[in-house]
Amino acid sequence: ATPVAMLAAIGASAKRGLLIKGGKYLEALAKADVVLIDKTGTLTLGRPRITDVIALNGVPAPEAVQLAATAERYSEHPLAAAVRELAQAQNLTLAEPEHFTAIPGMGVRATVQGATITVGNRRLIPAAASLPLAAHLEAEGKTLLVVARNDEPIALLAAADTLRPETPAAIAELRALGINHIELLTGDNERTAATLAGQLGVQYRAQLLPEDKIAVVKDYQARGHTVVMVGDGVNDAPALAQADIGIAMGAAGTDIAIEAAHIALMRDDWMLVPQVLRIARRTMGVVK
Ligand code: ADP
Ligand code: MG
Repeated sequence: ATPVAMLAAIGASAKRGLLIKGGKYLEALAKADVVLIDKTGTLTLGRPRITDVIALNGVPAPEAVQLAATAERYSEHPLAAAVRELAQAQNLTLAEPEHFTAIPGMGVRATVQGATITVGNRRLIPAAASLPLAAHLEAEGKTLLVVARNDEPIALLAAADTLRPETPAAIAELRALGINHIELLTGDNERTAATLAGQLGVQYRAQLLPEDKIAVVKDYQARGHTVVMVGDGVNDAPALAQADIGIAMGAAGTDIAIEAAHIALMRDDWMLVPQVLRIARRTMGVVK
């Protein structure tokens, strides 16, 4: 590829809202044959809403919601925002959490009014492993959060997210470009991931921690594939950096993801991903 052709392609991409950090990523993109996509915030809008609250062990639902929202007070995760919105809608006043810790890919833990409050998935809260209601809500594609006080489950919250409107078309375009390996990667649970992947007709891997997402990327690379990873979150940053081409959602994406990525989308329209693949192929084809 000539430097001039590359610069022209980078300039044309910038006009469409694609910030490409160097010509070598266009070269890599032209060869890409695997596209891995984060679920929350990338395939979906990343603005989940709490749709169900199930009180457990005799703790009144408002009390559990207040504790959960307090524990989530300083979390940047979209699910934390959903829990806080629920508390606000119920006019619950949040307390000040102490010792707040975010556990990537799992949830949060904090001390609230002397008790340890945990909000997150069932891997974080072993005592919730066999709650029967979980399966039913997850089969609806909802993300299930367990609220625990001193390791005892006190409520289940179900969160529903919405697909980005362009998601089905963007996936169809990737297929039209001959990309045979399209996989949804998520920290979310198996059932929720399976429901969504089934609707979209893509493969999936669930319950991934940030380091597991990197392992998936490396595994494809070790088998000779050129990997595109699309993501938005702090938890996606290591995998975005490891991918041959990491693409971050620009507007909704976190600064860490945008920094780690090689391409940033200035608009949150991931239809730009198949578009930049076409641009790359055309550019590299022109100069062959
Ligand atoms: P994704 O890969 O889909 O973007 P994450 O890795 O950010 O998802 O989170 C994976 C799972 O961890 C979530 O589905 C949720 O169950 C749990 N989780 C992560 N952060 C939080 C939080 N702040 N509050 C509650 N649950 C959380
Ligand atoms: Mg995400």
